Amino acid sequence: MSVPASKKSRSSVRRRRSHHALKAQNIGVCQTCQAPLVSHTACTNCGVYKGKQVLDVSRNATRAMKRAQQNVSETHNHTHEEKHDSKETEEKAS
Ligand SMILES: [Zn+2]
Repeated sequence: MSVPASKKSRSSVRRRRSHHALKAQNIGVCQTCQAPLVSHTACTNCGVYKGKQVLDVSRNATRAMKRAQQNVSETHNHTHEEKHDSKETEEKAS
């Protein structure tokens, strides 16, 4: 493995790192639905890019609904488990 020939001076390190700072992204507004939007990308809210329908938003909506339902059922299961645990602790206590 190669080894650096000499130590980088503080000044050269800092000069290199002067370009490392992150800049704030330009955020525009969708022209059809007025939602905040990263420029040069399709709108995730309405699926339009440059006046054309590019994304199938209805499919995303159905997916989101399914996910929400799954989350609800999962949280439901969690509550059951917690109740079960509490019953076990009660039985152990008695
Ligand atoms: Zn939009």
